[in-house]
Amino acid sequence: MLIVGGGVVGASIAYGLAAEGARVGILDAEDSDFSASLGNFGMISISNKGFNNLAYFRLSCASSRLWPEFADTLREQTGIDPAFDLKGKIYLSVGDAEFAAHAEKVAEYARRVGADYRHDILNRADLQHMLGKVRLGERVAGGSFSPLDGLAEPLRLYSGLLNAIQRHGGWILRDHRVGRIQHQRGIFTVEGQWGSFSAPRLVIAAGLGTPDLASQVGISVKVRPQRGQMMVTERVEQSFPYPVSGLLRQNPEGTIMIGVSTEEVGYDDRTTVSVLKSLAMKAEERLPALRSVQINRCWAALRPRTEDGYPVYQESREYPGAFVITCHSGITLAALHERLLPKWILGGRKDALLEPFGLGRLQNASAT
Ligand SMILES: Cc1cc2nc3c(=O)[nH]c(=O)nc-3n(C[C@H](O)[C@H](O)[C@H](O)COP(=O)(O)OP(=O)(O)OC[C@H]3O[C@@H](n4cnc5c(N)ncnc54)[C@H](O)[C@@H]3O)c2cc1C
Repeated sequence: MLIVGGGVVGASIAYGLAAEGARVGILDAEDSDFSASLGNFGMISISNKGFNNLAYFRLSCASSRLWPEFADTLREQTGIDPAFDLKGKIYLSVGDAEFAAHAEKVAEYARRVGADYRHDILNRADLQHMLGKVRLGERVAGGSFSPLDGLAEPLRLYSGLLNAIQRHGGWILRDHRVGRIQHQRGIFTVEGQWGSFSAPRLVIAAGLGTPDLASQVGISVKVRPQRGQMMVTERVEQSFPYPVSGLLRQNPEGTIMIGVSTEEVGYDDRTTVSVLKSLAMKAEERLPALRSVQINRCWAALRPRTEDGYPVYQESREYPGAFVITCHSGITLAALHERLLPKWILGGRKDALLEPFGLGRLQNASAT
């Protein structure tokens, strides 16, 4: 079994396959290549999923339910704790108009999603109570709390996955960019400047590199880059008890990540002062304690976005045994990828949760 792409998506699948007893190898490109897995915010986001697509909400919820056991097993097997915590997420609205619009959106979510959607609108006093000693900015009019959301430490998750794969007998080779895929009598051969490998099953999970590889197994898929910029502060003693949507999260060692932008700028993963400044100002306006905290580092990374923003789980019709898997919520969906994809890839039934996410949906749909 070969997996092309060693980001969190390929690694989650490889871990699941290896845990099922499959012989798995990952071929990954250069360290200097684009990698969303090394530059993300680490949220397990559910409350903002599926406004226009109930199946996506259900998929994300299923992953969230699998996350506790997934995190425990990973920690027990590797000694690396992905710091998973299903503590919920706060939203903060500045000004009455923003608060009213947010409340309306949450109510509409609840109508569309139904009883499984849990998200409470809170007034300023309730929010202040939840945040304890972290003082709210003067212009925060209100907000909300959803217990559906969680977070993990993305780099620990990633290194835990790579460690677990190897403990289960799998391997990962970096600097092994795949250029060409051939298929003969049920065997896929992948080739690069380094040589070739062959296997009867092939998973393409190469993030932004996916379209070119997918086309070689008869699958046409579009994946575009969407830039996200963020920054991390020095360690602070003050505890920020909940992540705040679109704003910040505190890491286990005390640093705070502030982010994250959403920009359509092509294959450009540079940071810009204007975007970082506006993120910092947004954060400081809502939580003034951040004003005196030093920013230590900033970066940008590119999300692999499919045409309609939803994941793609597709086996090739022309070349059965070749699978294309990509999504822009690889942390949220990591547990689901590890648990539900291997059985399907190994020849079993495709789980009903995955069915809506074949490429057939894009032939005549324009979902948002
Ligand atoms: C700023 C930012 C914040 C984010 N926040 C969150 C969040 O809070 N929660 C969440 O769930 N998700 C978040 N994401 C999205 C998440 O990071 C991605 O969904 C996930 O990392 C995608 O993983 P991937 O393995 O598909 O892609 P990548 O991490 O990009 O990995 C793809 C790998 O494939 C390799 N590759 C490409 N072409 C080839 C080839 N030809 N041969 C061999 N290897 C190849 C690349 O080198 C790379 O290592 C965020 C993303 C960004 C950028």
